[in-house]
Amino acid sequence: MKIRVGMGFDVHELESGRNFYLGGLQLPDAPKGAVGHSDADVLIHAICDALLGAANLRDIGFHFANTDNRWKGMDSKFFLKEVTRLLEEKGWQIGNVDCTICLEKPKVNPHVEEMKKILAPLMNITEDDVSIKATTNEKLGYVGREEGVCAYAVALIQKA
Ligand code: MG
Repeated sequence: MKIRVGMGFDVHELESGRNFYLGGLQLPDAPKGAVGHSDADVLIHAICDALLGAANLRDIGFHFANTDNRWKGMDSKFFLKEVTRLLEEKGWQIGNVDCTICLEKPKVNPHVEEMKKILAPLMNITEDDVSIKATTNEKLGYVGREEGVCAYAVALIQKA
């Protein structure tokens, strides 16, 4: 059994009057939304990069360039499904992912269970293999000033 780990990081600017997509769902109580070429789902993008990194398959921008009109406004769930397919093509199976979202507002914790339900099947793993944590940035820096949101992810993959 061969085992590999990968890490991912992503950041998006926040702007008033936008829908906020995070972890595959639209946050209902968000004062601002993330800005991006796709739906700007920072959590999914970080997970994609962790998975691609573990498999040494470059990064999300390499596969889904933010200059390509095909991905404009794209639902990021498509990217995660596609990344999973790329890994499985190379014989990799996803073990687990662990993520942290840094966001000042709104609270993410009430939505974590629903996010896990959405994300697990896209990676062909169980909800128990998806960990999503959230923290504020204690009002410090761009996250603290509510100018942006960022996410970190670590993934383990395995091959028989
Ligand atoms: Mg991104």
